[in-house]
Amino acid sequence: MRTDVDHRPVTAFQEPTTVEQVISLHRALGDAAVLVAGATDVGVLLRRHRIHPTHLVSLRRVDALRRFEVDGDDLVVGASVTHRSVERSRLVAGSLVALRECCETVGSIQTRNIGTIGGNLCNASPAADTPPVLLALGASVELAGEAGTRSLPLDRFFLDYRRTALAAGEVLTAVRIPLPAAGSGSAFLKLGRRGAMEISIVCVGAFLSIDPEGVCRRAGIGLGSVASTPIKVSEAAAVLEGSEVTPSRLDEAAGLAAQACAPIDDVRGSAAYRKDVTATLVRRALVRALDRARGDTGVTGQ
Ligand SMILES: Cc1cc2nc3c(=O)[nH]c(=O)nc-3n(C[C@H](O)[C@H](O)[C@H](O)COP(=O)(O)OP(=O)(O)OC[C@H]3O[C@@H](n4cnc5c(N)ncnc54)[C@H](O)[C@@H]3O)c2cc1C
Repeated sequence: MRTDVDHRPVTAFQEPTTVEQVISLHRALGDAAVLVAGATDVGVLLRRHRIHPTHLVSLRRVDALRRFEVDGDDLVVGASVTHRSVERSRLVAGSLVALRECCETVGSIQTRNIGTIGGNLCNASPAADTPPVLLALGASVELAGEAGTRSLPLDRFFLDYRRTALAAGEVLTAVRIPLPAAGSGSAFLKLGRRGAMEISIVCVGAFLSIDPEGVCRRAGIGLGSVASTPIKVSEAAAVLEGSEVTPSRLDEAAGLAAQACAPIDDVRGSAAYRKDVTATLVRRALVRALDRARGDTGVTGQ
């Protein structure tokens, strides 16, 4: 039901320059404010009257949110780094290439020029393209709020349909991705009704790290569009760890991943189809990651 409150206009556009200023503005304004990075999701929600803020707090001038660098054993991608910057970065070559692959499929170049990694995660669409890869790579998110900063594994960030672990007044500052060991590979596959500008029917991120003896040391599988949130399917990945990756283990992992899904029927596909296709896509993504791992020398774009 519509109320007068639905028609409140946006009356202020704030442009803080530090994370601290964002936090205090966000905290002071409460529900009246919405944070805006590229506004590719916020703009749609405003036009459709799904949100009714009176204040927009832009993150555009906050340089600290645009970090994009190797820090110790991690690649750090600031929340305001755009999909296009990831896509074009030499930092996501080699075993992190799935990150480039998922960013390349987000909307059009125009969307990717302004849409950000942080916005993609905080919008928390179950169909978003970057979460499956980030989940597979074992990423964590850094959050900053009045009480200080905290780090959370990405699979604990997504709580429910479009609901995240961000507390009131908290800002996502960066995503941390552990740099893979030599002999690692990753892959992203997205099934849609058409090849571009498409919301996925199912999307899959896969990661494998193989030691010189051929034993899988680390595996990761992330899925999109098959549950109320993006999901990490740890049980499926675990069957690959600790031994050689054989065809039967790949089948088992793919089957377990499909079992872990709780998809819905919608205009893009039925729940049953989504489950079926998940098994196929997971297996294909793992095979692609395995091929890449076998050719990986450990030289990154650093
Ligand atoms: C034409 C079009 C095509 C698209 N195609 C795809 C696609 O193929 N795949 C896909 O995954 N997405 C797609 N999207 C969705 C969108 O582009 C992405 O989700 C994008 O990454 C959102 O980033 P943004 O910077 O624009 O976020 P915004 O719209 O600015 O923000 C999104 C949400 O995140 C919050 N937020 C943003 N940054 C932070 C932060 N640092 N801390 C806390 N909260 C924050 C905002 O308050 C808001 O709730 C498409 C969008 C459009 C318009």
